[in-house]
Amino acid sequence: MEIRLHNTLSQKLETFKPIKRGLVSMYNCGPTVYDYAHIGNLRTFIFADILRKTLEYNSYTVHQVMNITDVGHLTTDGDDGDDKMTRALKRENKPFTLEAMREIATFYFEKFVDDLKSLNISSPQEFPRASDNIQEDIIFIQELEKKGLTYKISGGIYFDISKFPSYGKLGNISLDSLKDGARLTINPEKKNPADFVLWKLDSKIGWKSPWGVGFPGWHIECSVMSRKYLGQPFDIHTGGIDLIPVHHNNEIAQSESAYNEPLAHYWMHGAFVTVNDAKMAKSVGGSITLKTLEDETISAIAYRYWLLTAHYRSPINFSLEAVRGAQNALIRLMVTVSSLPTDGKVILAYKDRFMAYINDDLDTPKAIALIWDILKDNNQSDADRRATIIDFDKVFGLKLDTIKKSEDEEIPDEITALAEAREEARKEKDWVKADALRIEIEARGFVVSDTPNGIKITNK
Ligand code: AMP
Ligand code: ZN
Repeated sequence: MEIRLHNTLSQKLETFKPIKRGLVSMYNCGPTVYDYAHIGNLRTFIFADILRKTLEYNSYTVHQVMNITDVGHLTTDGDDGDDKMTRALKRENKPFTLEAMREIATFYFEKFVDDLKSLNISSPQEFPRASDNIQEDIIFIQELEKKGLTYKISGGIYFDISKFPSYGKLGNISLDSLKDGARLTINPEKKNPADFVLWKLDSKIGWKSPWGVGFPGWHIECSVMSRKYLGQPFDIHTGGIDLIPVHHNNEIAQSESAYNEPLAHYWMHGAFVTVNDAKMAKSVGGSITLKTLEDETISAIAYRYWLLTAHYRSPINFSLEAVRGAQNALIRLMVTVSSLPTDGKVILAYKDRFMAYINDDLDTPKAIALIWDILKDNNQSDADRRATIIDFDKVFGLKLDTIKKSEDEEIPDEITALAEAREEARKEKDWVKADALRIEIEARGFVVSDTPNGIKITNK
């Protein structure tokens, strides 16, 4: 069955055709590891994961690369101001050294990997780190230099966008919209306001280069790491919608003018999570993380489920009530599915509908609604309905089949953990949390009761 994906390059739905038969090369702009990822960032990675799982469901082998930005990402889209990693050094009172920067990055990278696991996001085959690719950045910049596409000013080596006539083609970005100062900082030394830094000179921290000590620009890192692991062109490039105007257009300008090939054939972008309808950004502070949700007794998988009820290209406004509602629906779903017998067959008529939805630019809201239709369809056997829903979960990734009623009296570890967390909450007199945990435990088919000898968990 054909897969149609929205390509930001053409602004249209296009039938997906990979470069190599049966194989998809995909690059996801990864996190900047200077802090915990917020739930907005994580939406972008859930979108990439649904894309991967959809391709795999269609029998493609996916080679997925997600970079880790641990140097060079400035706090704005422009070239001035702090880099996010050095800001983290200041925040955490660390010495201004590359070693300390690496240490902070490693810490948040590990936390990010934990988040991916909690969200049941498949691990990409490669997680290249920007700081491990500095020599490759230098070689790439030298290639641009040889072609006469760069110039040097006091701040560093810059790319001259006037040498790339189709600059801004991704998302049809007009240079005027960038010039107004909303995205780019004005630097009178630059030839064009949208010229961007390739190598930023920095006397305090950095690596040696032919141009002086400093560090690579954020955009060059992605051009280098995608080409190194996937070649050029590769099939699909993803990121959040905010990356279109500057970061992705800059990647395209560098890569295409250096090597005379398109960088990627399909560019896909996920819409934002907003809070009170305003943009969420890590650098603004006050961000919501998976830990925040956990403290509100909302699981990462419940957050994942909530996101799937919206299309990846629609913004979604976060509220605890909305995600709690999704959590309740997910719990009902898990309980219902786990009560159905195993050993059924996938119902092909439903599978066709499911594939038509997900292959139509990842229409997860319709695909999720289909699950509820199946549960209401009494013309199908219970076992077949279960088998069909569990099959769809290869794409949804909601761990629907990991919570089974245990056949003997043994209590699964996750249930014991929930019961312990409930005890903890009760000790702290956090009744709302304790109640939410009791409900989660019961929803998984267990009862927790208090006895003079402590708590007791039994099968329902
Ligand atoms: P960063 O860690 O800042 O490099 O961002 C990692 C990814 O998160 C990028 O693809 C961003 O586009 C994306 N992103 C940032 N904020 C949001 C948000 N509120 N909603 C969805 N994606 C976001
Ligand atoms: Zn990138």
